[in-house]
Amino acid sequence: MSQLLYVFLAGHRQRRALGQLQKQAAQGSTADVDLAALKQRGVRALVFDFDGVLGPHGAPQPVALGQKALTEAQQIFGAGHVYILSNKPTPERRSWFRENFPHIIFIDGVRKKPYPDGLLKIAALGNYQTNQIALLDDRLLTGGLACLDCGARFVYISRPCADYSAHPAKELFFATLRSIEALLARFAA
Ligand SMILES: [Mg+2]
Repeated sequence: MSQLLYVFLAGHRQRRALGQLQKQAAQGSTADVDLAALKQRGVRALVFDFDGVLGPHGAPQPVALGQKALTEAQQIFGAGHVYILSNKPTPERRSWFRENFPHIIFIDGVRKKPYPDGLLKIAALGNYQTNQIALLDDRLLTGGLACLDCGARFVYISRPCADYSAHPAKELFFATLRSIEALLARFAA
């Protein structure tokens, strides 16, 4: 099944849950997430989406804010318990992580979010229950749905990183997409 069709069907099926996710979500950027509080609430594995969460769309490597969050995450969750789950796991990004954060596990070779495959792979790799995994993601209909599907925790990044000067059309496209899904989720709740 195509990813888009899956998004549509699963999004429709989970529309109330998505609305709840959005309603309960803390509003903010990656820098605003209290990682220590997640750990205290039983999260053992922290998973970062890339685009919008660690850097602007298409960036080859995380920006300073993202790198700071990654460093903090490693300190709090420990080596081997921080993961990257991006729908664009490019070789360039993978090698950046290998060089700069060798203990952060870069997931690829799985079906894209909203399929829960990447989160299930993480659960198997680290021997976690899915509710011990938290995903930081700026998209309700990809990351949010993937979490709902497998019972992982979703941390909504409602104010994502963007770089309008580098990629105005792309950023505008994703900003529009996020507004539409946020609007849909609000009406469904
Ligand atoms: Mg994203």
